[in-house]
Amino acid sequence: MDGSAPAVSAVAPGESSPPVVDEVDVIVVGAGPAGSTTAFHLAQAGLDVLLLEKTAFPREKVCGDGLTPRAVRQLVAMGIDVSESAGWLPNRGVRIMGGGHALELDWPRLASFPDFGLVRRRAEFDEIVARRAESAGARLVQRCNVTGPIIDDRTKHIVGVTARSVDEKGRPNGDSVSYRSRLVVAADGNSSRLSVAMGLERRRDRPMAVAVRTYIRTPNDRDDRLETWVEICAGGRILPGYGWIFPMGDGTVNVGIGMLNTDKIDSKIDYRDLMARWLREIHPQRGLSLDDATEPIRGAALPMAFNRQPHYTRGLLLVGDAGGMVNPFNGEGIAYAMESGALAARVMTQALARQTPAQVEQALSGYPRLLREYYGGYYTMGRWFLRALGDPRFMRWAVHRGLGRRRLMELSLKMMGNLSDKPGADAGDRLVNALQRLAPKS
Ligand SMILES: Cc1cc2nc3c(=O)[nH]c(=O)nc-3n(C[C@H](O)[C@H](O)[C@H](O)COP(=O)(O)OP(=O)(O)OC[C@H]3O[C@@H](n4cnc5c(N)ncnc54)[C@H](O)[C@@H]3O)c2cc1C
Repeated sequence: MDGSAPAVSAVAPGESSPPVVDEVDVIVVGAGPAGSTTAFHLAQAGLDVLLLEKTAFPREKVCGDGLTPRAVRQLVAMGIDVSESAGWLPNRGVRIMGGGHALELDWPRLASFPDFGLVRRRAEFDEIVARRAESAGARLVQRCNVTGPIIDDRTKHIVGVTARSVDEKGRPNGDSVSYRSRLVVAADGNSSRLSVAMGLERRRDRPMAVAVRTYIRTPNDRDDRLETWVEICAGGRILPGYGWIFPMGDGTVNVGIGMLNTDKIDSKIDYRDLMARWLREIHPQRGLSLDDATEPIRGAALPMAFNRQPHYTRGLLLVGDAGGMVNPFNGEGIAYAMESGALAARVMTQALARQTPAQVEQALSGYPRLLREYYGGYYTMGRWFLRALGDPRFMRWAVHRGLGRRRLMELSLKMMGNLSDKPGADAGDRLVNALQRLAPKS
């Protein structure tokens, strides 16, 4: 296979699904961080994997481009060179701005995580991870738009997908084809059409945020910290969200704003206007203006705290944004996309070595349980945190009082970044771990 979707002449009359062009162990739909990590680990375990991606690399993805130590750990686990000489921009922590404070915090020193984060444009980042999956043996098919599941009439399980090759504008330029497999992974991002086609709608009772970003030209394009601004105001109140300025090291910074969108006023927010006003307010400190933007402001949704479930049903596993796994505390999604991909691959590898369909199912049913065990308590706390954030009194207290308390903020960074040793090495870790254990895992 040459890496582009195969051209197949015609669908035979009377066939329920188009001609089968390949049959593999696992099909992974979507080559973002979730899909490529899943494909990498499956291929490493010796399984035959197809990674189907509707765009072609390098391609843009709307993102802040910031990676915490949690994401770095996943890159390292895949054997990816994360050195500066390989094009990564390291950072040693965060700078939190607001309420007259400028608080600099280092990433915690832990046994389980590196003590640095990274920045890299998604156009490059996603391709690096996808190529790593390819080099491990996964077969990447680009410009291949998956159009739906193929369902076995008898078992009602997904046994493959239909797809069409598309051009650079996403327009179909070939006939429909089928790919068959024993298992399918939905790694197709927030809207996850594949999950929806399998009856898995988004949970409306789970949080969702909206974020927008652009790149702005500046001579200050390097910083050893990820900078966040927590005092974004509109209508006389502090909004539940934050602004960020992440250094790109290429003559620009990535500038964005993320907001919780369960709040009543948010549907009326004009994000371009909000960003322009915020940049004007911080102009004396940062000197950034939308007049120097190198591209339009673009935005997308961040699905949080398991906002699509179940994560396994009838031969389909959900990873990353498809499974709504963005961290509700800080809007970080890449680490969770990669971690859930690694977990799903581990479960699938074990499942596919089982002897009977019942045993395979039993093994696969462990995936949602494993996810709940890993993130359930943490995401529940995140939902409580977001509820508090929706209360202007809490926001005011956090910005004006909380930021002035270094020890509290160090602990908050551990909590919000989900960065602690287990078992805990110090009192902070033990507190964070205990809270996660006590919160309901759902
Ligand atoms: C403005 C903004 C800023 C953000 N900043 C950060 C940040 O700084 N750090 C961080 O960790 N997270 C950030 N996030 C969240 C992060 O971008 C996501 O959580 C992450 O991209 C999820 O990865 P994924 O692989 O699950 O999905 P995606 O990255 O969305 O990848 C899905 C892939 O599936 C492909 N696909 C979709 N449909 C099909 C189909 N039918 N057929 C074939 N392929 C298909 C897509 O083309 C895409 O390549 C941000 C999000 C937004 C919106």
